[in-house]
Amino acid sequence: MNGGMAILRAGIYEEWRAVRPSFACRDSADPPPERWLQQVWRHQRLRRDQLMTLDGRTVRVLHPGFWNREAGPDFRQAVLQLGDGPAVTGDVELDVTVSGWRGHHHATNPAYARVILHVVWDAGPRELAPPVLALQPHLDAPLAELVPWLETAAGSILSPGMLGKCCAPLRHIADEVVADILNQAAKERLRRKASEFAARARHAGWEQTLWEGLLAALGYKHNAWPMRRLAELCVAPAGESVLEWEARLLGLAGLLPSQPPIHLLAAQRVKRLWEAWWRDRERWVDQILPATVWRLSGLRPANHPQRRLALAARWLAEGTLPKRLADWLTTEPVGNQGPASLLLEQLQPAPDPSDFWAQHWTFRSAASPAPLPFLGPARASDLAVNVVLPWLWARASAGGNASALTRVEERFFVWPSGQDNALLRHARARLFAGPTRRLPRTAAAQQGLLQIIRDFCEPAGPLCSECRFPKLVEALPGAESKIPASPDT
Ligand code: SF4
Repeated sequence: MNGGMAILRAGIYEEWRAVRPSFACRDSADPPPERWLQQVWRHQRLRRDQLMTLDGRTVRVLHPGFWNREAGPDFRQAVLQLGDGPAVTGDVELDVTVSGWRGHHHATNPAYARVILHVVWDAGPRELAPPVLALQPHLDAPLAELVPWLETAAGSILSPGMLGKCCAPLRHIADEVVADILNQAAKERLRRKASEFAARARHAGWEQTLWEGLLAALGYKHNAWPMRRLAELCVAPAGESVLEWEARLLGLAGLLPSQPPIHLLAAQRVKRLWEAWWRDRERWVDQILPATVWRLSGLRPANHPQRRLALAARWLAEGTLPKRLADWLTTEPVGNQGPASLLLEQLQPAPDPSDFWAQHWTFRSAASPAPLPFLGPARASDLAVNVVLPWLWARASAGGNASALTRVEERFFVWPSGQDNALLRHARARLFAGPTRRLPRTAAAQQGLLQIIRDFCEPAGPLCSECRFPKLVEALPGAESKIPASPDT
């Protein structure tokens, strides 16, 4: 394992995953369970540019909606465009078969009155129901390839924490062994992300896949889907200027201010953007995103999609980012400059004090006395771990480039930890009873923890039902003898 001396035999975490309680092996003729369909829809593991309802209308998913764990439709507030119609907001219901609509009495239940799309596994006899989309013909990878992913994605959102059953055995495991478990789990997560990029790249190409990943990551958790949609629509650099890209992205996003901002420079910038957008708008008019796809409340100004799209516009106008990221992998850091600061250099547009965005966080904010960077180290690090390194790994793997794979892993396993968040804190509380355990300060340790949550905690739920992780930890060499017998055995 890169990033430190390995204590555990390589591949042990992979073996642990293999013995998790798994859904029974399926006859390929059986439809998959509904919870799998939910995950396919939630993560859009689909060839999104080819979706079509059973009655022949194209389906554009501008936002898949928010997963509803309560009674009612499976996804709320999805935003879809069917055929040549306008974007509409409504609910999406998933059933294994078309007949589920009638069989589950959705037609007569007012809670389902806002359903705009019925998503099913495969085509069946038409019913008097909302438009139907069959998922099976549109998966982005064969079902056999998706099953391992589905088995871990099919979990639930964690309930408020309590000490996990693995907390006691983990307490007796040396720090270095815990670090090794986390690194092996992190490698699994890297592979999973890479497989998602590879599946998309088979249909869209590597560069397009990278743009989609970057823009989605710039959208954070609330605006990832509309940002991804913009990338799907239009990111093929073709010599346009920064102004043209910024106008196109903001125009397509529906985020160009309709009223002139109060600050003079902002008003001038918006006027120029509108002039450029009017020249370009005609060819995009059917694709403009409705305002309802964006979640803007509570965002820090630095994270506003307008600012993030301005950054994307600079990347696209410059046009060489995919190549520069590939070169970054083979560039040796010199002096005090590590790979993280080298990457930030690649991602940060060239400073231009006269740039509107170098002086203002948003169209509404006053000019800043100091230049404002588009990206900070934390966001660049997030892009590295979630997009750049998995994308490079996927490309190297697809091309059989062993030395590039090694380089990606070398960087991945020593990458400094990113920002802490509620999910990581919750996981540390359950597995390690809080912050006292000395975990490596690496992004890989964070990624490993997230993977354990996904592989073991989410399927097991808050009561750790049938979770095998504690027994697997107990069985580690040297651990068993140190674990006191539990009082109830
Ligand atoms: S579900 Fe398993 S891995 Fe998660 S806290 Fe419980 S015992 Fe630990």
